Amino acid sequence: MEAPFAHFGEMVFGEKEMKERLPQPVYLSWKKTVADEATLDRPTADAIAHAMKQFALEKGATHYTHWFQPLTGTTAEKHDAFIDLGKNGEPITRFSGKALIKGEGDASSFPSGGLRATFEARGYTYWDVTSPVFVRENTLCIPTVFVSYNGESLDKKNPLLKSIRALNQAAVKVVNQLGDKDVKSCIPYLGLEQEYFLIDRKDYLNRRDLNMCGRTLFGSKASKGQELNDHYFGSIPTRVNAYMDDVNQQLWKLGIYAKTEHNEAAPGQFELAPIYSCCNIAIDQNQLTMDILKKTAEKHDLACLLAEKPFDKINGSGKHNNWSIITDNGQNLFAPGDKPAENIRFLVFICAFLKAVDEHALLLRMSSSSSGNDHRLGAHEAPPAIISIYLGQYIESILFNLNKTSNHHIDMKSNHAEFNPISGLSYIPHDNADRNRTSPVAFTGNKFEFRMLGSSMSASETNIVLNSIMAQSLNEISEELNGIKYLQDIREKALVICQDILQKHQRILFSGDGYSKEWVEEAKRRGLPNRPSFIESVDILDDPKTIDLFESLGVYTKKELSARKTIYMEQFGKTIGVEVRTLIEIVRKQILPSMSKEISFYSETVNSLAKQNQSSSYLNSHLQKLIQLTDQTFKSSQCLEDTFNQVIMDKDDEKIGLAIQHTVYPMMNELRGYLDEYEVIADQKILDLPTYEDMLFSL
Ligand code: ADP
Ligand code: MG
Repeated sequence: MEAPFAHFGEMVFGEKEMKERLPQPVYLSWKKTVADEATLDRPTADAIAHAMKQFALEKGATHYTHWFQPLTGTTAEKHDAFIDLGKNGEPITRFSGKALIKGEGDASSFPSGGLRATFEARGYTYWDVTSPVFVRENTLCIPTVFVSYNGESLDKKNPLLKSIRALNQAAVKVVNQLGDKDVKSCIPYLGLEQEYFLIDRKDYLNRRDLNMCGRTLFGSKASKGQELNDHYFGSIPTRVNAYMDDVNQQLWKLGIYAKTEHNEAAPGQFELAPIYSCCNIAIDQNQLTMDILKKTAEKHDLACLLAEKPFDKINGSGKHNNWSIITDNGQNLFAPGDKPAENIRFLVFICAFLKAVDEHALLLRMSSSSSGNDHRLGAHEAPPAIISIYLGQYIESILFNLNKTSNHHIDMKSNHAEFNPISGLSYIPHDNADRNRTSPVAFTGNKFEFRMLGSSMSASETNIVLNSIMAQSLNEISEELNGIKYLQDIREKALVICQDILQKHQRILFSGDGYSKEWVEEAKRRGLPNRPSFIESVDILDDPKTIDLFESLGVYTKKELSARKTIYMEQFGKTIGVEVRTLIEIVRKQILPSMSKEISFYSETVNSLAKQNQSSSYLNSHLQKLIQLTDQTFKSSQCLEDTFNQVIMDKDDEKIGLAIQHTVYPMMNELRGYLDEYEVIADQKILDLPTYEDMLFSL
């Protein structure tokens, strides 16, 4: 029998393949480029391209593509065959260094937010040497950045790479200053837990809303929801197991360490988590994972729903963003070690993070804003839209002991009490922090888990923000440590800096119940921003503080930020447009006809009874209810359509967004209310649409 992971990474042209297939000088030259110490010259690029092509052909590929991440949030590719014309007209295979490194093409259909006028339609892609090339189906995929003629970022990868560089430089400086001179790089690492729903494909195809919008626009609550909590970590259904197995096999071949899978809290909801890797690669791999989850579902007669809130009244899906910073010699800068209270570097990095998050809380919140996530944040299991940090009692107590002036009192004993839940086990590692599942940013031992990010979103934006705000914070600390000669003095100064940060930024720490109403009030008293929706958070993108942050680090220019704001607002309006039109279609083509059928059936019955001088109070009231709901549905849908058409006449995307939030959404909800009410009393044979119960409990 084959070893279980015999095919791991076989579709990746990574370090191992490079080493085996390339002449030594070429390999070394590539290594230097990856380490950001050199640029690739033409002969090296040609040699790599040749080896890559050989590899791809052996794996059955006929095409190659520059694989990039435009601002739509998904990935894009345009395939070219390796085929070329030989001297005598015969077909030959060719793939040059130039084709590997740079691509150009008509990019006018991708959003640019005004960065690129349509008459200069070209966009350019450049190979990201830090992310491995891979073969999928018949195509060699080359991860690339996507920029305009003037070099402005048209994608989500280019600014991410810049933010990684900024954080790397800032963190190395501080680590070196604090005495560890050997450290040459500090890279953000990322583990992205992906949540999703699975339903039967037949049901999916019968729901226009799921097809068009990825989420249900109506549907009454199933008689059983998640109240029994019997799905969470429960045994995985056989069909789902086969699907997960297939997904894993594909991910492993692509070198993705898919590790954990389990049922999530809501019925029909699951989670997949890989082993963490470099931030940039983790995000590429998450994009691939989402694609594979969706495509594989089709093969198994299932549909994978990645939307943040596909079903109302049960949990939504997130993408937990586990983030840490690790040095080139393997030290995790958020690891407290055995004696965190004496670990100055740990304290500095934790405090730098508190400062970063408090100063840019709204920007971090914005990074997970989308129309889809608006339905999730604040509901059920999702964290609220207020940013706060949970450190756990132990770490908090250490910090507040630094600040004797603080009036924060914490019982230090509790964490050091004997911990031995099972007798007979001599050593049980005890977490430094318990979990607080209601916190949007939780310290989980040696990393921060950001839980606001939505399941369907690219993780780029969030990590661009995390890397950048942390870089800024560290740069400021480094500035203060500059010029101090002796290590002991540096350490003392660092401690003072930490105390100072705590004094100023302790309002960001919160360990209570983030879902409670009291927290909303408390956060308001502390002056923490609470912007519950996308449209109320998007203006942070052109705030002077944001522009200053990104321009000073070279991550975004003011123009790029403003383009992003434009694009996100356009996308918001367009997404809601599709939802409104779909809802109205459903009402016209499915709900109203079904209501009419029932009315005609019941009125005939009532009439024929009347002819026999009989009447049924059930039939009469049922008929009345149907007529009333039909009227309400009709009027409400007319009103929604008229209002929406009026709203989008405005030329200002921000005004459109606000009108959607405050006028259109409530109308969609009202209409939904009538549909849900009808569904409860409808004849199942007449209203022939999959219900929540059908979709959530059929696997
Ligand atoms: P939980 O569901 O309890 O949060 P999981 O094990 O499902 O935990 O997911 C944790 C994620 O965090 C995994 O993807 C894991 O690889 C990742 N992770 C672990 N350590 C680190 C680290 N130092 N930096 C970034 N991510 C990490
Ligand atoms: Mg988690």
